[in-house]
Order: sequence, then C-alpha cells, then structure tokens
Amino acid sequence: MKKSTFPIRVFSNRDEDSKILEMMNNIFLYRRGYISKVPKNEDVVFIFSGGLDSSITLDMIINEWGVNVFPLFVRRSARATKFEEESVRFFVDFYQKKYPGRMQNLEVVEIEVPPLPFKKYPEVDRLKKLGHPMRNAVLQSLGVQYAQKLRATVSPKLNTVLTATVGDDSFPHSSLQALRSVNLGVCIDTGDWGWQVTSPLVDVVYEGRPLFKKDLIGYAIKHNLPLDKTRTCIEGGEKPDGTCPECLCRLRAFEAAGVIDPLDYQNQ
Ligand SMILES: [Zn+2]
Repeated sequence: MKKSTFPIRVFSNRDEDSKILEMMNNIFLYRRGYISKVPKNEDVVFIFSGGLDSSITLDMIINEWGVNVFPLFVRRSARATKFEEESVRFFVDFYQKKYPGRMQNLEVVEIEVPPLPFKKYPEVDRLKKLGHPMRNAVLQSLGVQYAQKLRATVSPKLNTVLTATVGDDSFPHSSLQALRSVNLGVCIDTGDWGWQVTSPLVDVVYEGRPLFKKDLIGYAIKHNLPLDKTRTCIEGGEKPDGTCPECLCRLRAFEAAGVIDPLDYQNQ
C-alpha cells in the first residue's frame, strides 16, 4: 500500500487537498466535456432552507440566469423548522410576484435528516465542527428525486439541482469537493451524465465565484430584498437568539458588509 502524505481526516473544507477537486473535475471533463455549466433559462430544482443564503441566491439566479425555479423545502423536526418554513413560504410568494412565471409553487417533503434516533456522536463538538454525516448529500439526493418526478411530469429536460452552499461554510460537507462528489454519485447511480448538482455561490466554474454572505447582503441591499424575512437562527425562539453559531456568522457578515442587520434579536 502506498503511503499517503495527506491525513485521513480533515476538520474543515479549507484543509482538503486541492488535488481531490482537480481529479473530480477531470472525471467530468473526461466523461462529458464540461464540469458544470450555467443552466441559462432552464428549469432547476432549488433546495430552499429559508436562510439568508438561499433566500437571496434565488433572486440572483432568476435575475442573472433567467432560470425557472422549482423550490423544495425539506421539513425536519429541527428547533427552527417552523420559522424556516415561514421564511420559505414568504420568499416563494415574494418571488412569484416579483418574477411571474419564474418561481413555481413550493414542494414540501417531510423527512428526518438524519433520523432522530441516529443523532448520537462520539465527538462532543461534532455538530459545531463537522455537522451530521451525509446530511447535505441526503438533502441533495432528495432534490434529485424531486427533479426526477418533474422530468416525468412537467419538465422532461430538467437536470440541475441547486443548493445555496456559500463561501463562508467551512464544514467538510460544504465544499465544492463535496458537491462534486454528490454530482458524481448521481451521474453514476442514474447512468445519466447530464445531471448537475452544484451551488451557484461556490462553483468556481461560474464567473466571480466563490461568493460570501457579505456579498449576498450587498446584493440584497442593492436589489431591495427583505433581509428581515430570512431565518438564520437554528434555535427555537421566534426571535433569533443572536448567540448560536449561525447567528454569529450572520452578524459577522453584516459587519463585514457594513450594514445593520434588520432582525430583532433577543440578546442584542
Ligand atoms: Zn441563533
């Protein structure tokens, strides 16, 4: 066995060996002649969480790429699910009015990701550093399964599933490598190399990427999008706590963008 010079485990997507991405990109280039492409004026499935990233990304991709969005919300029993869903429903309605014919009705699927009895980890700080194993991959797989249904019914050519992974995300599952690996799995699993699963924010095939939360905030201000309707906090209070890791990351991004967060926080 050849000894690897790289550690078996990485604890942040910043630490992954960049050659891995290059090798995966080469598989796509070899097999289909491109890595990923802009789904210009196409139908796309969009995994919509109601957070700042996904809510603002929607405007960007409809506005800049002219896509027609089929939004999918995965209803889990997380503490903030109810508020996330409220935000999702608000923005689906908002974009249906802003971009008639470009935002389809919301599809909601109720499923635990991961199943509650499986949420036990040997590492105490697992969720702060690594997240749930295969969480994103399962959500993206659900996106592909929804896309498959749409292919059978209203959109035979649909082959793009988008998620709003942003440059700030640092878990191993939030990297371009992770997205490419799911994309590769989907192509091989289905025997269809036309599929693409990616993020319009971090896929560097797209011009000017990666984008960060502060860029999204700047975009939202410029386009007059209601940032106060986005739900970032993962805790269960109606008002965001301002202290969970997601809130802190959001607040840092507003500071970096030089903008005041319009949310009413419990602890500010
Ligand atoms: Zn919070």
